[in-house]
Amino acid sequence: MIDIHCHILPNIDDGAKHLEDSVAMAKAAVAQGIDTIIATPHHKNGSYNNTKSTILPLVELVNARLEAEDVPLTVLPGQETRIYGEMVEDYDLGKLLPLNQTSDYIFVELPSNSVPRFTNQLLFDLQVHDLKPIIVHPERNKAIMEHPNLLFEMVRNGALTQVTAASVAGKFGKKIKGFSQDLIEANLTHFIASDAHNITTRGFCNQEANTVIKDTFGHAMLYYFMENAQYIVENETVIGHEPERIKKKKFMGLF
Ligand code: FE
Repeated sequence: MIDIHCHILPNIDDGAKHLEDSVAMAKAAVAQGIDTIIATPHHKNGSYNNTKSTILPLVELVNARLEAEDVPLTVLPGQETRIYGEMVEDYDLGKLLPLNQTSDYIFVELPSNSVPRFTNQLLFDLQVHDLKPIIVHPERNKAIMEHPNLLFEMVRNGALTQVTAASVAGKFGKKIKGFSQDLIEANLTHFIASDAHNITTRGFCNQEANTVIKDTFGHAMLYYFMENAQYIVENETVIGHEPERIKKKKFMGLF
């Protein structure tokens, strides 16, 4: 299994603190059935700036250590960039790192509570630039939870999205679990990934999420998500199912 979103690189953001932590996370990932992780450290989120030149040597460092310890996991480079106006320019300057370094897929993180006004324009500009933006954890964005049509418009206009395994598994509460399922049902997400930061409070929940997906949506849906993760690593085109609007729930009082 491939995990496309993980804070496994040491001492670079709020994920693994040091190399021992990275190894512990790698072992926890292997126990979940994960053999490949895309390391996606925070960039431009107000606390951390990690450009391509910082990330690539750390990926090599972790892989060398995993090999030395016989941990059967490969780490690939990536980056989780908080949305900002000059993303296209900085990509051209070599500061941004697409998933697996050379693919067209690039993570875009929205602020926790809002969707900035320039978001749709930026998503458009990235795509015109032959990049494929993936909005990470939309299920935890307050504005999208209140107005899911914001996400529908983004997906209809070509953006992809990634929901957190822990959200699907219910670790962020019932409301976010329910909304994650709504997003899956409405074809508004294309990837499930751990976004693991450690092995305690923000660990891997991939297996738990997979069980929920299989039980709720069937095996084909689980296979769809796994295949899409593979497409990223191989830089193949992910073709989403036709997105639908989320209908307001009358009885659950979610909105
Ligand atoms: Fe993250």
